[in-house]
Amino acid sequence: MLRLTGIRRSFRVGPTTAEILKGVDLEIEAGEMVSIMGPSGSGKSTLMNIVGLLDRPTSGACLLDGRDVSGLRDDALSALRNRLIGFVFQSFHLLPHLTALENVGLPMVYRGNGRPEIRRRAQAVLERVGMADRTGHRPDQLSGGQKQRVAIARALVGDPALLLADEPTGALDADTAHDVLALLRQLNADGGTTMLVITHDPAVSARCRRQTHMRDGRLVEPAVVPSGGASRRSDDSPLPAKGHGHPRGLPE
Ligand code: ADP
Ligand code: MG
Repeated sequence: MLRLTGIRRSFRVGPTTAEILKGVDLEIEAGEMVSIMGPSGSGKSTLMNIVGLLDRPTSGACLLDGRDVSGLRDDALSALRNRLIGFVFQSFHLLPHLTALENVGLPMVYRGNGRPEIRRRAQAVLERVGMADRTGHRPDQLSGGQKQRVAIARALVGDPALLLADEPTGALDADTAHDVLALLRQLNADGGTTMLVITHDPAVSARCRRQTHMRDGRLVEPAVVPSGGASRRSDDSPLPAKGHGHPRGLPE
Protein backbone atom coordinates (compact mmCIF):
# COMPACT_ATOMS: atom_id res chain seq x y z
CA MET A 1 0.00 0.00 0.00
CA LEU A 2 2.72 2.42 1.05
CA ARG A 3 6.50 2.20 0.81
CA LEU A 4 8.76 5.04 1.88
CA THR A 5 12.47 4.71 1.24
CA GLY A 6 15.06 7.15 2.50
CA ILE A 7 12.65 10.07 2.81
CA ARG A 8 14.42 13.31 3.71
CA ARG A 9 12.86 16.74 4.13
CA SER A 10 14.73 19.95 4.83
CA PHE A 11 13.37 23.43 5.34
CA ARG A 12 15.23 26.63 4.68
CA VAL A 13 14.64 29.12 7.45
CA GLY A 14 16.52 32.34 6.82
CA PRO A 15 20.14 31.55 6.09
CA THR A 16 20.06 28.02 7.56
CA THR A 17 18.65 24.71 6.43
CA ALA A 18 17.06 22.42 9.02
CA GLU A 19 16.82 18.75 8.17
CA ILE A 20 13.63 17.49 9.81
CA LEU A 21 13.33 14.04 8.21
CA LYS A 22 16.68 12.26 7.94
CA GLY A 23 15.93 9.16 5.96
CA VAL A 24 12.57 7.64 6.84
CA ASP A 25 11.82 4.08 5.76
CA LEU A 26 8.31 2.73 6.24
CA GLU A 27 6.25 0.01 4.66
CA ILE A 28 2.53 -0.40 5.27
CA GLU A 29 0.50 -3.25 3.87
CA ALA A 30 -3.15 -3.00 2.89
CA GLY A 31 -5.39 -3.40 5.92
CA GLU A 32 -2.79 -2.43 8.52
CA MET A 33 -3.32 0.09 11.32
CA VAL A 34 0.02 1.69 12.13
CA SER A 35 0.94 4.44 14.56
CA ILE A 36 3.77 6.93 14.40
CA MET A 37 4.53 8.16 17.89
CA GLY A 38 6.96 10.91 18.72
CA PRO A 39 7.28 14.10 20.72
CA SER A 40 5.98 17.41 19.43
CA GLY A 41 8.29 18.86 16.81
CA SER A 42 9.82 15.51 15.84
CA GLY A 43 8.56 15.74 12.25
CA LYS A 44 5.40 13.63 12.35
CA SER A 45 3.19 16.11 10.52
CA THR A 46 5.97 16.80 8.05
CA LEU A 47 5.97 13.09 7.24
CA MET A 48 2.19 12.92 7.07
CA ASN A 49 2.12 15.78 4.58
CA ILE A 50 4.48 13.83 2.36
CA VAL A 51 2.51 10.58 2.65
CA GLY A 52 -0.69 12.57 2.04
CA LEU A 53 0.77 14.08 -1.15
CA LEU A 54 0.46 17.59 0.29
CA ASP A 55 4.24 18.08 0.25
CA ARG A 56 7.21 16.58 -1.56
CA PRO A 57 10.30 15.14 0.06
CA THR A 58 13.68 16.76 -0.52
CA SER A 59 14.84 13.28 -1.52
CA GLY A 60 13.73 9.68 -1.20
CA ALA A 61 11.07 7.54 -2.81
CA CYS A 62 7.37 7.28 -2.00
CA LEU A 63 5.38 4.44 -3.51
CA LEU A 64 1.64 4.70 -2.95
CA ASP A 65 -0.67 1.95 -4.11
CA GLY A 66 2.18 0.61 -6.21
CA ARG A 67 2.85 3.95 -7.90
CA ASP A 68 6.00 6.05 -7.61
CA VAL A 69 4.61 9.50 -6.90
CA SER A 70 7.85 11.46 -7.06
CA GLY A 71 7.62 12.19 -10.78
CA LEU A 72 3.99 13.32 -10.74
CA ARG A 73 2.95 16.89 -11.45
CA ASP A 74 0.85 18.83 -8.94
CA ASP A 75 -2.48 18.19 -10.66
CA ALA A 76 -1.78 14.46 -10.89
CA LEU A 77 -0.83 14.45 -7.20
CA SER A 78 -4.10 16.19 -6.28
CA ALA A 79 -6.12 13.72 -8.30
CA LEU A 80 -4.33 10.80 -6.64
CA ARG A 81 -4.79 12.37 -3.20
CA ASN A 82 -8.52 12.86 -3.76
CA ARG A 83 -8.95 9.28 -4.88
CA LEU A 84 -6.67 7.43 -2.44
CA ILE A 85 -6.38 9.37 0.80
CA GLY A 86 -8.67 10.48 3.61
CA PHE A 87 -7.49 12.94 6.24
CA VAL A 88 -8.45 13.33 9.89
CA PHE A 89 -7.00 16.24 11.87
CA GLN A 90 -6.78 17.18 15.53
CA SER A 91 -9.01 20.23 15.05
CA PHE A 92 -11.58 18.42 12.84
CA HIS A 93 -11.49 20.99 9.99
CA LEU A 94 -15.26 20.92 9.52
CA LEU A 95 -16.92 23.82 7.70
CA PRO A 96 -18.99 25.64 10.34
CA HIS A 97 -21.96 26.65 8.17
CA LEU A 98 -22.54 23.15 6.79
CA THR A 99 -24.46 20.32 8.46
CA ALA A 100 -22.78 17.04 9.31
CA LEU A 101 -24.30 15.49 6.21
CA GLU A 102 -23.07 18.35 3.99
CA ASN A 103 -19.58 18.25 5.50
CA VAL A 104 -19.34 14.52 4.88
CA GLY A 105 -20.63 14.91 1.33
CA LEU A 106 -18.20 17.67 0.41
CA PRO A 107 -15.41 15.44 -0.98
CA MET A 108 -17.98 13.84 -3.28
CA VAL A 109 -19.14 17.26 -4.49
CA TYR A 110 -15.55 17.97 -5.52
CA ARG A 111 -15.51 14.67 -7.38
CA GLY A 112 -18.60 15.63 -9.32
CA ASN A 113 -21.00 13.02 -7.91
CA GLY A 114 -24.74 13.66 -8.21
CA ARG A 115 -26.76 14.92 -5.24
CA PRO A 116 -28.82 11.79 -4.54
CA GLU A 117 -25.66 9.65 -4.60
CA ILE A 118 -23.88 12.09 -2.29
CA ARG A 119 -26.79 12.08 0.18
CA ARG A 120 -26.99 8.32 0.17
CA ARG A 121 -23.26 7.79 0.68
CA ALA A 122 -22.93 10.50 3.32
CA GLN A 123 -25.89 9.13 5.24
CA ALA A 124 -24.49 5.59 5.11
CA VAL A 125 -21.04 6.54 6.32
CA LEU A 126 -22.48 8.72 9.11
CA GLU A 127 -24.37 5.62 10.22
CA ARG A 128 -21.11 3.66 10.27
CA VAL A 129 -19.56 6.16 12.67
CA GLY A 130 -22.61 6.21 14.95
CA MET A 131 -23.89 9.64 13.89
CA ALA A 132 -27.11 8.70 12.08
CA ASP A 133 -29.16 10.83 14.47
CA ARG A 134 -27.05 14.00 14.04
CA THR A 135 -26.89 14.40 10.27
CA GLY A 136 -28.64 17.80 10.32
CA HIS A 137 -26.45 19.28 13.07
CA ARG A 138 -23.85 21.93 12.39
CA PRO A 139 -20.41 21.56 14.01
CA ASP A 140 -21.20 24.06 16.80
CA GLN A 141 -24.13 21.83 17.75
CA LEU A 142 -21.86 18.80 18.24
CA SER A 143 -19.44 17.73 20.98
CA GLY A 144 -15.74 17.28 20.22
CA GLY A 145 -16.07 13.53 19.92
CA GLN A 146 -19.06 13.89 17.62
CA LYS A 147 -17.20 16.38 15.45
CA GLN A 148 -14.35 13.93 15.08
CA ARG A 149 -16.80 11.18 14.11
CA VAL A 150 -18.16 13.44 11.39
CA ALA A 151 -14.61 14.22 10.26
CA ILE A 152 -13.85 10.49 10.13
CA ALA A 153 -17.01 9.94 8.08
CA ARG A 154 -15.88 12.68 5.69
CA ALA A 155 -12.48 11.01 5.37
CA LEU A 156 -14.14 7.68 4.56
CA VAL A 157 -16.92 8.79 2.23
CA GLY A 158 -14.78 8.35 -0.87
CA ASP A 159 -13.65 4.89 0.27
CA PRO A 160 -9.95 5.84 0.48
CA ALA A 161 -7.17 3.29 0.28
CA LEU A 162 -5.37 5.03 3.15
CA LEU A 163 -6.69 7.00 6.10
CA LEU A 164 -4.21 9.46 7.62
CA ALA A 165 -5.02 10.71 11.12
CA ASP A 166 -2.81 13.44 12.61
CA GLU A 167 -3.34 13.62 16.40
CA PRO A 168 -6.99 12.53 15.95
CA THR A 169 -7.60 12.59 19.71
CA GLY A 170 -5.47 15.63 20.53
CA ALA A 171 -8.46 17.86 21.24
CA LEU A 172 -10.50 15.25 23.12
CA ASP A 173 -10.73 14.17 26.75
CA ALA A 174 -9.48 10.71 27.67
CA ASP A 175 -12.84 8.92 27.54
CA THR A 176 -13.80 10.46 24.21
CA ALA A 177 -10.34 9.73 22.84
CA HIS A 178 -10.84 6.10 23.84
CA ASP A 179 -14.15 5.98 21.97
CA VAL A 180 -12.68 7.54 18.84
CA LEU A 181 -9.78 5.05 18.86
CA ALA A 182 -12.28 2.23 19.30
CA LEU A 183 -14.16 3.53 16.27
CA LEU A 184 -10.98 3.68 14.18
CA ARG A 185 -10.07 0.14 15.23
CA GLN A 186 -13.51 -1.08 14.30
CA LEU A 187 -13.43 0.65 10.92
CA ASN A 188 -10.02 -0.88 10.31
CA ALA A 189 -11.19 -4.35 11.31
CA ASP A 190 -14.59 -4.32 9.59
CA GLY A 191 -13.94 -2.15 6.57
CA GLY A 192 -10.31 -3.07 6.01
CA THR A 193 -9.34 0.60 5.71
CA THR A 194 -5.57 0.99 5.98
CA MET A 195 -4.71 3.55 8.65
CA LEU A 196 -1.73 5.60 9.68
CA VAL A 197 -2.26 7.30 13.05
CA ILE A 198 0.10 10.02 14.18
CA THR A 199 0.26 10.83 17.87
CA HIS A 200 2.45 12.05 20.71
CA ASP A 201 0.36 9.96 23.11
CA PRO A 202 1.62 6.47 24.09
CA ALA A 203 -1.91 5.39 25.06
CA VAL A 204 -3.18 6.18 21.56
CA SER A 205 -0.20 4.54 19.89
CA ALA A 206 -0.62 1.40 21.98
CA ARG A 207 -4.12 0.89 20.62
CA CYS A 208 -2.93 0.74 17.04
CA ARG A 209 -2.06 -2.69 15.74
CA ARG A 210 1.54 -1.85 14.90
CA GLN A 211 3.62 0.91 16.42
CA THR A 212 6.52 2.92 15.12
CA HIS A 213 8.43 5.70 16.86
CA MET A 214 9.82 8.90 15.41
CA ARG A 215 13.33 9.53 16.73
CA ASP A 216 15.61 12.27 15.51
CA GLY A 217 14.09 12.41 12.05
CA ARG A 218 13.97 8.63 11.57
CA LEU A 219 11.37 5.95 12.20
CA VAL A 220 12.11 2.96 14.39
CA GLU A 221 9.86 0.06 15.26
CA PRO A 222 9.73 -1.26 18.82
CA ALA A 223 11.39 -4.61 19.40
CA VAL A 224 8.30 -6.77 18.91
CA VAL A 225 7.00 -6.71 15.37
CA PRO A 226 3.98 -8.73 14.25
CA SER A 227 5.03 -11.69 12.14
CA GLY A 228 3.96 -11.76 8.51
CA GLY A 229 1.36 -9.52 6.95
CA ALA A 230 -1.11 -11.98 5.55
CA SER A 231 -3.33 -12.32 8.61
CA ARG A 232 -3.33 -8.73 9.79
CA ARG A 233 -6.30 -7.59 7.80
CA SER A 234 -8.81 -9.76 9.59
CA ASP A 235 -7.01 -9.97 12.91
CA ASP A 236 -8.90 -7.89 15.43
CA SER A 237 -7.47 -9.40 18.59
CA PRO A 238 -6.23 -6.77 21.03
CA LEU A 239 -2.52 -6.13 20.89
CA PRO A 240 -1.38 -7.50 24.26
CA ALA A 241 -2.88 -10.93 23.56
CA LYS A 242 -0.06 -11.82 21.19
CA GLY A 243 2.81 -11.46 23.58
CA HIS A 244 3.47 -7.82 22.86
CA GLY A 245 4.28 -7.27 26.48
CA HIS A 246 2.83 -3.77 26.80
CA PRO A 247 -0.39 -4.02 28.78
CA ARG A 248 -1.37 -0.44 27.92
CA GLY A 249 -3.61 -1.34 25.00
CA LEU A 250 -6.53 -2.77 26.90
CA PRO A 251 -9.13 -4.76 25.04
CA GLU A 252 -12.33 -2.89 24.26
P1 ADP B 1 5.29 17.26 14.82
O1 ADP B 1 4.11 17.06 13.94
O2 ADP B 1 6.01 16.00 15.15
O3 ADP B 1 4.95 18.03 16.05
P2 ADP B 1 6.26 18.90 12.62
O4 ADP B 1 6.44 17.93 11.51
O5 ADP B 1 5.03 19.74 12.57
O6 ADP B 1 6.36 18.14 14.02
O7 ADP B 1 7.53 19.85 12.68
C1 ADP B 1 8.83 19.34 12.85
C2 ADP B 1 9.82 20.48 12.73
O8 ADP B 1 9.83 20.94 11.39
C3 ADP B 1 9.52 21.66 13.60
O9 ADP B 1 10.71 22.10 14.20
C4 ADP B 1 8.99 22.68 12.65
O10 ADP B 1 9.29 23.98 13.06
C5 ADP B 1 9.68 22.34 11.36
N1 ADP B 1 8.89 22.69 10.18
C6 ADP B 1 7.76 22.07 9.77
N2 ADP B 1 7.27 22.64 8.65
C7 ADP B 1 8.11 23.65 8.34
C8 ADP B 1 8.17 24.63 7.28
N3 ADP B 1 7.26 24.66 6.31
N4 ADP B 1 9.20 25.50 7.28
C9 ADP B 1 10.14 25.45 8.25
N5 ADP B 1 10.15 24.57 9.27
C10 ADP B 1 9.16 23.68 9.32
MG1 MG C 1 2.14 17.60 14.21
